[in-house]
Amino acid sequence: MVLAGPCSAETEAQVMATARELAAGGLTDVFRAGVWKPRTQPDCFEGVGEKGLAWLAQVRDEFHLPVATEVANVRHVEAALRYGIDILWIGARTTTNTFAVQEIADALRGVDTAVLVKNPVAPDLALWVGAVERLLKAGVPAVAAVHRGFSSYQKTPYRNQPLWQIPLSLTQRLPGIPLLCDPSHIGGKREYLPELLQRAVDLRYDGWMIETHIRPNEAWSDAAQQITPQALTALLATLVRRADTSSDVGFIDRLRQLRAELDCFDEQLIDMLAQRMKVSEAIGRQKKRSGVAILQPHRRNEMLQQALDKGAAAGFTVGFIEELFELIHQESINRQIHVMGDEK
Ligand code: PEP
Ligand code: MN
Repeated sequence: MVLAGPCSAETEAQVMATARELAAGGLTDVFRAGVWKPRTQPDCFEGVGEKGLAWLAQVRDEFHLPVATEVANVRHVEAALRYGIDILWIGARTTTNTFAVQEIADALRGVDTAVLVKNPVAPDLALWVGAVERLLKAGVPAVAAVHRGFSSYQKTPYRNQPLWQIPLSLTQRLPGIPLLCDPSHIGGKREYLPELLQRAVDLRYDGWMIETHIRPNEAWSDAAQQITPQALTALLATLVRRADTSSDVGFIDRLRQLRAELDCFDEQLIDMLAQRMKVSEAIGRQKKRSGVAILQPHRRNEMLQQALDKGAAAGFTVGFIEELFELIHQESINRQIHVMGDEK
């Protein structure tokens, strides 16, 4: 399923021109546009409000495309239902607010409208699952999850970290709930769309929501991540769909062999880590005897820097090395705390 359309409905002309081109491209299943925009900073464009719903209704009538918009409270839901909006989505900031989600769910009781639930801003799987469950319990007939990435204090190339394992865990917790990817908000820049979208294809997502604008650079919100309807068509054409499996015996054999090789490395990794932790514990005992604090920030930084230098030479990204060594360091500290406790 392809949902496409501008971040924000800005003017009737912009909405209609974008929808016309998308409809002509023939690849868009649902037209999206936000009319109430949650903005992190004050004094940003906060959406045109209810008049934008009339433009969406016009898109539906003229181009026979179902239309979708974001709702954050009951007033929004009621207005959207009055205009016959087909699909509502709950934005990332709203998903974090359980009161708002419950109110929206209650307002949708007995209504035949599909709802998409974007992941909460923070990497909190339970909060995301809970929001989907509130809607299901209220009897919303069709609920899907949208992965739009998670914000992080650390600076990363992407606007929001994908943390792919969280949406995959969501589908395990909620089998049957379709999972869509929003690579526009994950990447924050249009140049990242191909790699993110291909990843979503490889991970068997059920669809994508991609911000599309007739003149992206002039967009009133999220200009850097929007693409033209023509660029969307080109982007979708680049996606490679890989088969589930293959009956080619040579392929199956080779795959088995390579996987066995991976398993060996994984075993070695565990062994090496166990040996490393033994050394950490020995250090912990020494620290205890000499009355030295466990956490030595300069040592942590030195270790990370060495790992980053070696990692860069071996072709690893800074993010990967940082995360890996943060975990290893944390485990070392835990072991040392444990050893200190034992020796009391
Ligand atoms: C949007 O889809 O334009 C939007 C505001 O998304 P999110 O809630 O994911 O930030
Ligand atoms: Mn947006």
